[in-house]
Amino acid sequence: MSILTSTVNTETVHSEEKITQRQAGTMIELHSVSKTYTNSHHALLNVSLQVNKGEFLFITGASGSGKSTLLKMLYGAELPTQGEVIVDDINIATLESYSLSLLRRRIGIVFQDYKLIPQRTVAENVTFVLQAQGYTRKEIQRRLEPTLKLVGLLSKADRFPDQLSGGEQQRVSIARAIVGTPPLILADEPTGNLDPDNSWQVIQIFQKLNSFGATVIITTHDEQLVRRCHHPVVQVKDGKLYRN
Ligand code: ADP
Repeated sequence: MSILTSTVNTETVHSEEKITQRQAGTMIELHSVSKTYTNSHHALLNVSLQVNKGEFLFITGASGSGKSTLLKMLYGAELPTQGEVIVDDINIATLESYSLSLLRRRIGIVFQDYKLIPQRTVAENVTFVLQAQGYTRKEIQRRLEPTLKLVGLLSKADRFPDQLSGGEQQRVSIARAIVGTPPLILADEPTGNLDPDNSWQVIQIFQKLNSFGATVIITTHDEQLVRRCHHPVVQVKDGKLYRN
């Protein structure tokens, strides 16, 4: 089933009681992918990768090694110079912009720098994308509470971003990414600005989402965090991928 139509538990919104069965199959395939930027910098060189549905994968590597480039290609922000990037059986390069926007609705993306709207409350930051996508007010309300609860921010729904700690702001950005219950979650250095306690809290949220059936891919250069988690790791080095 295509990612455009498949769901992880859209009916129940992160409900632990009704965990969707893990779907068998492949979520991500990279076939002989190279990425060369216009300045001739080779970020990735002839790499291949398979990530199964329901997997929790870390992508590690030094700063500038190509982690973000790899993630960006998974949600179509960058296209490969050579090779194919397949997300849930769809070759990203073949998508028109509307189809790509539909695909992105099924991918939760989390960034290092949160990207919250300062003039909007926590609740508004989490729901504005759903509003833009035409969800009914009732459906938005149905999704908001369990999502804020999951990230531990139910009591702070009416706060503004500048009234929150960095860890809390990152949890708002996770709530925004997951409120549409995407089957695939991509997080680019989500703990890069956080202390170890907050980093661990954030990782635990991703682990919970993974236990509900979501495929989770996280880039990080925090080796300690990776060692603590015991999830599979792909290292990016000199344009190549190494699966530990
Ligand atoms: P990481 O996420 O591991 O820090 P990136 O994927 O951001 O690495 O970058 C990999 C390499 O590609 C770096 O050398 C970076 O300078 C280069 N790069 C990234 N984005 C661009 C771009 N838009 N144009 C040119 N070079 C880029």
